Amino acid sequence: MGSHSPKRPSEEQRGLECRQWGCKHFRVIYTRPCRGGRLVRRRGCRRCGRRITTWEKMIG
Ligand SMILES: [Zn+2]
Repeated sequence: MGSHSPKRPSEEQRGLECRQWGCKHFRVIYTRPCRGGRLVRRRGCRRCGRRITTWEKMIG
């Protein structure tokens, strides 16, 4: 938390890429339904261990 960029609100959702290493080997730690028909996914980078949270629309 605390890493939000007000200039790019959707950066975390589409930017599944580690800025530090440019790696895209994020593994899903857990998926959990959220309010508003969304899914919260917690992901972690396999290389540097950086963790990010993404919100995705639940289809269906
Ligand atoms: Zn990384």
